[in-house]
Parts: sequence; C-alpha cells; structure tokens
Amino acid sequence: MYYDYNMLKADIDREIRKYSFAEYHLIGKSVMERDIPCLRIGAGQRITLIAAAFHGLESLTAALAMRFAGDYSEHINNGNPFFGENAARLFLENTLYVLPMINPDGVDIAVNGIDPSEEAHRKIAGLVGICGFKGKWQANAKGVDLNHNYDAHWEAVKEKPSPSKYGGEYPESEPETRALVSFVRRVRPDILIALHSQGGEIYCDFEGYYPEGALETAEAMSRLSGYKVCMPVGSAAFGGCKDWFIREFDRPGFTVEVGHGQNPLPMSMLDDIYEENARLLLCAMAKRT
Ligand SMILES: [Zn+2]
Repeated sequence: MYYDYNMLKADIDREIRKYSFAEYHLIGKSVMERDIPCLRIGAGQRITLIAAAFHGLESLTAALAMRFAGDYSEHINNGNPFFGENAARLFLENTLYVLPMINPDGVDIAVNGIDPSEEAHRKIAGLVGICGFKGKWQANAKGVDLNHNYDAHWEAVKEKPSPSKYGGEYPESEPETRALVSFVRRVRPDILIALHSQGGEIYCDFEGYYPEGALETAEAMSRLSGYKVCMPVGSAAFGGCKDWFIREFDRPGFTVEVGHGQNPLPMSMLDDIYEENARLLLCAMAKRT
C-alpha cells in the first residue's frame, strides 16, 4: 500500500485538526487543482519548514511528515518528552510549518496510474508517449520535475515533459513551485528541510557553498539518524528546492533522502524509518549541534 492524496486529506482531518493550536491552510493549488496543504504548529521565533513529496514516487515522505506533525502535536498536548525533547517548550521557541505534499498530482499518478477520464492525464500521456505511469512517475501533471524547476542555476536537463528530470520551460513555471516559493518568501524560514527518498543521505550545500551553521547541523542530524552527509553530483546538484533556498536566503537548507530500498517505498516501511527521521527533524527545530 502507498500513501496518496486522499490519505493525506484524511490524516489532516483526523490527526491535526483535533488540536486547537495546530493551524491548517493552503499555500496554493496544483496543476489539477488539488490542494497544497500547510500545517502550522508553534508560536516561537525560530521558523522551521519541512516540505515533502516533491516527487510522485516519494509519497512515503508525506506520510512521514504527517506522522511527525501528529506525534509532535500529541506530545505538546500531553507534556511527555518527545524523543528526549520537551515538545511544549519547542512549541514556544519554534514555529513549525509542514508542507506534506508539494506534488499531489504526481503522487496520484504514481500511486493510482493514469485515469483516461481526466483530460490532464490524456494530454500528458500523449506528450510523454507512454502509458504505464504507475510506479514510474516523479513529475507533476504536466511532466515537469518539481525538484528541477527552481531558480538555482536552472538549466534544461531534458527537452520535453517526462516522468522525471524535465525542469520545465523556465524556473518557477509550475504552480506547485510558485506556491512554495511565494510562501517561503513570506514566512522566511530559518531552516528548510526537503524530504525525498531514498538512500539515507543528507545534502546541505549548493555547488559547494554551505551557509553558516549548515554543515554543523547536518553532522548533528547525521549522528542522530545514521544518515550520511553527502554532496550531490550530476543533475541532482542544481535547480532543487534546497538549492534555491540556500541561494536566495543564505540560510541552512537540506535535502534528506529518507530510508533505503527502491522507490516507491511502501507504507510498511514507515515504522522502520520514523524514529531516525523524527530525531533528525527535532534536531533541526531545536538547533542542537
Ligand atoms: Zn525526490
């Protein structure tokens, strides 16, 4: 079983909305007019942003972000330590934004396949020239890879819409990218963590440049999670969300490749990778180095 948009909506209603202190709003809509939701938990000065499911095959990262948000809220509520952290104190020190699913259309295509009754699906199938999208689709509903669509030494990796690695006609061409970029410009996070899968790796530079404190935080996250601090190579090295964030804000931005195995990682893996990632995310929020 794989996590999808409907499960996300149900999780928000069931696990988040019951807490009066957890706020919920939309930052925008996808190509197919699906909601791009945002959770806000906390009242503190330090602003942490966690974004997940940029890629269709990586919906387990949305499930992970939702479990973390729900679990954190529960510990704020009951006052118990949360993996050693005082959640109630973190709530006062930190404002946490969680964007659990940046690419709801891509997740839907990857999990549920093409629906011939959808005009956008018929169009994309014609453009890309294949129809077996289930288990292969990383892009949005226009065949643009959302983690190659940011304005950070953007360049065309591929010429046309594709299941992955087509960066679009120009940077920020896609509504999902524009929604995230304008939201980030408004809230100006101190730290941004983009969750991807898989490989157990942490990336924290943009073309060899590290914002102040980024490497120290990455190393602390590495100790807590067992993930390796790495430098991206090839097409993974530019045009991504954390690249843009580092370039525009000169603040620590991270790509975390959660888990091990082959995408899409099944929901059954969530229990195995939850604790290592919860500790990593808490470390970023609390800024313990
Ligand atoms: Zn990814």
